Amino acid sequence: MMQQYIDQAEEYILHTYNRYQVVFDHGDGVNLYDTDGKEYLDFVSGIGVFALGYNNKKYNDAVKAQVDKILHTSNYYYNVPAAEAAKAVVEASGMDKVFFTNSGAEAVEGALKVARKYAYLKDGKTDHEIIAMQHSFHGRTFGALSVTGTDKYREPFGPMIGNIKFANMNDLDSVKALITDKTCAIICETLQGEGGIHPATEEFLKGLRALCDETGALLILDEIQCGMGRTGYMYCWHKYGVKPDVMTTAKALGGGIPMGAFLMTKEVADNSLVAGDHGTTYGGNPLAGAACVEVFKLYEELNICENAKTVGAYLFDRLEEIKENYDEIIDHRGMGLMQGLEFNKPVADVINNALDNGLVLINAGTNIIRFLPPLIVTKEDVDRMIAVLKEAIENAH
Ligand SMILES: *Cc1c(COP(=O)(O)O)cnc(C)c1O
Repeated sequence: MMQQYIDQAEEYILHTYNRYQVVFDHGDGVNLYDTDGKEYLDFVSGIGVFALGYNNKKYNDAVKAQVDKILHTSNYYYNVPAAEAAKAVVEASGMDKVFFTNSGAEAVEGALKVARKYAYLKDGKTDHEIIAMQHSFHGRTFGALSVTGTDKYREPFGPMIGNIKFANMNDLDSVKALITDKTCAIICETLQGEGGIHPATEEFLKGLRALCDETGALLILDEIQCGMGRTGYMYCWHKYGVKPDVMTTAKALGGGIPMGAFLMTKEVADNSLVAGDHGTTYGGNPLAGAACVEVFKLYEELNICENAKTVGAYLFDRLEEIKENYDEIIDHRGMGLMQGLEFNKPVADVINNALDNGLVLINAGTNIIRFLPPLIVTKEDVDRMIAVLKEAIENAH
């Protein structure tokens, strides 16, 4: 049965993913079920999207109720869910103004436009530079791709947008070496996801903040993967108190309905985009807005950040044990419910073994297993995961 759907998908869908050989049909809590009814424990949550787990009744009801009311109005009109979602995300983040998008990449695009416009209003020039980090990931559209620090993602699609330079994460001197009076922004994930679970150090973030304050460049923190409670803080930068000028968020923001956002301080909002500068047909539509409002409600009700912190600490200890016990594991990094194990060899075999035994894991690069469970995960779920993981490691080639 499953093979039939896989074959059909491969016949018609452009092959831009080497997909795992499974067709997921539905989910409940931290579990996923394939079309044959097999159960899986999910430690990926659709890459950090299903923070609330699958089939949360209140979330589903909120989305369904909005479907019966109105799905879409143009951004030329106001709608209630967007106004409420805006208040929720602004308050939860500590930023001042928000623009809603449909995806993470679009949020990054907007953030870059904000930075360029802000600099343009200051000096009237159109040759500003942006500093990004090696191994970063910001999305697949041209602007976002241009600041993504993986050569092989960018190269076939050149030329990228101009004046982008790459520094090394956690190496402040490498940033200082690139900063000029043309630099309008430094963009950085607070905790790199796709690039291999590399957290920015507190010292580095504080250094970036100071550099930006000195030069007038804007600090853009990409919180699309590490935000929304995943590290135990609503946004990862809250842990360090290093406030960005512009911030991006997405993935868990809509709880499964596509939604992203870029946010900024009042100072940036008052001196960058104005009416006519930026827009979107769908961004912040009533359906996404209603989903987002319910997400923030449930985060409070379910104490999501606290759970990510406690269960995250437990996961950290259990993964440390795993690291100690297997020579092929060379590093363990991360925070809260965003962690990675680095192997000295490709992890595809381990991930496929786990999948066969009902555990969903994902890689970050060829050698790193990434752990991104729904944020409602329990210590018992972690124990279940560890048992399958051990076996998967032992049976891997
Ligand atoms: C996933 C991701 C993006 C891109 O988001 P899309 O919704 O896939 O466009 C950007 N930045 C980070 C840090 C991400 O993890």
